Amino acid sequence: MEAARNPQTPDTGDALPGAGQPIYVTQPFLPPLEEFIPYLREIWATRKLTNGGPFHQQLEASLCEFLGVRHIALFANGTLGLVTALQALRITGEVITTPYSFVATAHALLWNGIKPVFVDIDPVTLNLDPARIEAAITPQTTAILPVHCYGRPCDVAAIQRIADIYNLRVIYDAAHAFGVGDGSGSVLVHGDLSVLSFHATKVFTTFEGGAIVCPDAKTKQRIDHLKNFGFVDETTVVAPGINGKMSEVNAALGLLQLQHFGRAINRRREVDALYRERLATVRGIRCLPVGDDYSSNFAYFPILVEAEYPIGRDALYSALKRHDIHPRRYFYPLISEFPMYRGLPSAARDNLPSASRVAEQVLCLPIYPALQDADVVRVADLIAGFGSGSK
Ligand SMILES: *Cc1c(COP(=O)(O)O)cnc(C)c1O
Repeated sequence: MEAARNPQTPDTGDALPGAGQPIYVTQPFLPPLEEFIPYLREIWATRKLTNGGPFHQQLEASLCEFLGVRHIALFANGTLGLVTALQALRITGEVITTPYSFVATAHALLWNGIKPVFVDIDPVTLNLDPARIEAAITPQTTAILPVHCYGRPCDVAAIQRIADIYNLRVIYDAAHAFGVGDGSGSVLVHGDLSVLSFHATKVFTTFEGGAIVCPDAKTKQRIDHLKNFGFVDETTVVAPGINGKMSEVNAALGLLQLQHFGRAINRRREVDALYRERLATVRGIRCLPVGDDYSSNFAYFPILVEAEYPIGRDALYSALKRHDIHPRRYFYPLISEFPMYRGLPSAARDNLPSASRVAEQVLCLPIYPALQDADVVRVADLIAGFGSGSK
């Protein structure tokens, strides 16, 4: 989902001819360029480029309203949001997190000198399994950093119960969860803080960007200081802050994207439904169940390639690539497999059986608003075809 994982980087290799345009796992939604020009004119006219300019302030207010949250602090990207969220709550020692995520989740801990403690996922929801959290708590544990994986809400009630008993903070990596709702409104109101990403691969993109959702004005103020080097006024610096500010160009695009978001999600919903319909009868291909207790943003379409499917996940991945279709193995390898993590005791595979299995089975199929029904059908039919042994 970053440089090395950028689905926009062509990697066509030996694609079969005649299949039309390559299809990547995602394609960013962009509004018509003409609609963006007026915003650029205004930036050129005012010469306000960054540092909490007018578009930045408008986007914070608009996002609060759109998402139904109290306070938002915009960031240059989601990773700086995660790093700063941990700083804002002064998290230290050990933090419990999931190995089944994009690597930035755990990197944000290392950037704060915090030791990640990996806990296995629930094999159905693919989110941090609350039943396994308590056993991983030590006197050094100060927080839990779960991920709403693929936008599916974590078991926020169970996680909060544990946090309350052990006096832990909860920071949600909500990079996948823009616009997701649950029983209480936005999924972003749970825990102490939630962090969003507006990267090019995400459902709501500002090219690069991110945000921290916070419950009170005081926390937002601290975060606002931290993202601007720790400045509180011209001559006062209260913390070793970072430069995490979102620029006016990114904020302007965000304002425009908001106007299109509803339609973009509706199209994603249709793509999701069509995949489910076409793949329902393919033996050994399991789609993640749709929960009726939340409203999805259809950010990803993960399938699990199980033992009954005649070829393995990697063979299916390669076969689709030969047809110029480029799904992604999100999330493989597990974060706990990367060299800076694999020495941790909690990174051992026998500590993470569900995550280890799912990482070997998962494939995220292309899903984005501009994807045509015919392409969805072609992808699904290819998967069904490989599965029946006929190529
Ligand atoms: C994309 C992503 C991030 C990083 O966000 P950036 O805006 O790219 O820095 C963090 N966590 C998860 C789960 C992500 O998918």
